[in-house]
Amino acid sequence: MKISELFGKGHPLFSFEVYPPKTEAGAATLQRTLAELTDLAPAFVSVTYGAAGSTRDRTVELVSRVQHEHGLLAMAHLTGIASGRAEMAALVARLVDAGIENLILLRGDPPAGVDNFVPPADSFAHASDLVAFIRQRYGDRLCLAGAGYPEGHPQCRDLALDMQHLATKVRAGVDFIITQIFFNNRFYFDFVARARAAGITVPIIPGIMPITDVAQIQRMTKMCGASVPAVLRAELERRRSDAVAVTQLGVAQATAQCVDLLLGGAPGVHFYTLNQSPATRMILTVLKARL
Ligand SMILES: Cc1cc2nc3c(=O)[nH]c(=O)nc-3n(C[C@H](O)[C@H](O)[C@H](O)COP(=O)(O)OP(=O)(O)OC[C@H]3O[C@@H](n4cnc5c(N)ncnc54)[C@H](O)[C@@H]3O)c2cc1C
Repeated sequence: MKISELFGKGHPLFSFEVYPPKTEAGAATLQRTLAELTDLAPAFVSVTYGAAGSTRDRTVELVSRVQHEHGLLAMAHLTGIASGRAEMAALVARLVDAGIENLILLRGDPPAGVDNFVPPADSFAHASDLVAFIRQRYGDRLCLAGAGYPEGHPQCRDLALDMQHLATKVRAGVDFIITQIFFNNRFYFDFVARARAAGITVPIIPGIMPITDVAQIQRMTKMCGASVPAVLRAELERRRSDAVAVTQLGVAQATAQCVDLLLGGAPGVHFYTLNQSPATRMILTVLKARL
C-alpha cells in the first residue's frame, strides 16, 4: 500500500523512524523496540540509509523485515549523493522486488570526515533529481516523500530560496513531506504557510524527536541546524547528569508540541525514535488517549 492513500481519512498518521543497527546488541534492542512500537499501530515505519550509502544492504534487509515480519507498512530512505544512475536503478528494483512501495528520497551529505569526497559523475546533485529519476521509471506505482526544513536547510539560510528548491522537488513528484526536527512549533506553522503560498499542496508531516540525552541532542542540532529555545536549553543543562529527569522533560516537551501541532492541523507526527521505544510510547499513549 502507498502511504499517500492514508492521508485525509480523518485521523492523524503516526509513524516512526528507525535505523539499521551496527551491532548484535543494537539488533536486539531494535527487535524489542519494533515489537513494542507495533502495539501502537503506526501508519508506517521508515528505515534510514547510512551516510553515502554505508547501510545499503542493511537498509534493504531491515525495511523488508519491518514490512514482512513485523507486518508494518515500511518506507525506505535513499540518498542520491554517492550513487550513480545504474546503481540507484538496481537498488530501487531490489526494494520494489521486496514489495516496498514507499521511498523517501534525499540528497544526503558527504561522509563525515572525508574532505576530498568526489561523488560519481552521474550521481544526483539534488534530491529533486533523484525524485524525477524514480518518477520517470516507476510513474505512480511508488509513493515518494521528501525532506523539508522549517528553519531552512543549513546550506541555504535564505528561506525563500530554500522554499523554491522545495517546490521544485515537489513538482518533480513528491507525494508528501517529512520535516527536520524543531522545538518551537512556530517554525512548523510558518513553514507550512510559506509552502502553501509557494503552491505546495502535499501533506507536510512534522518530524519530532523526544529529547532523552543532552549531549546527543546538542550533537544533532549542531549538525542539522535546528535551534533549541533558550528556556529548554537551560532546563536541560540543569538536568544534564540525571538521565531520568532529562527524559521526563523531553517527553513533556514533545507531548506538548504534538498536541499543539495536531490541534493546529498537522496531518500526523513522524517520530525520530533512535531505535528506542519508551519516550515515543509515552507520548503516543497520551495522544491516543486524547484523540
Ligand atoms: C525526514 C528526513 C530524513 C532524512 N533521512 C536521511 C537518511 O536516511 N540518510 C541520510 O544520509 N540523510 C538523511 N537526511 C538528511 C539529509 O540527507 C540532509 O539534510 C541533506 O543535507 C539534504 O538532503 P535533502 O534531501 O533535503 O536535499 P535537497 O532537497 O537536495 O536540498 C539540499 C540543499 O540543496 C539546496 N537545493 C535543492 N535543490 C537545489 C537546486 N536545484 N539548486 C540549488 N540548490 C538546491 C537546498 O536549498 C538545500 O540547501 C534526512 C533528513 C530529513 C529531514
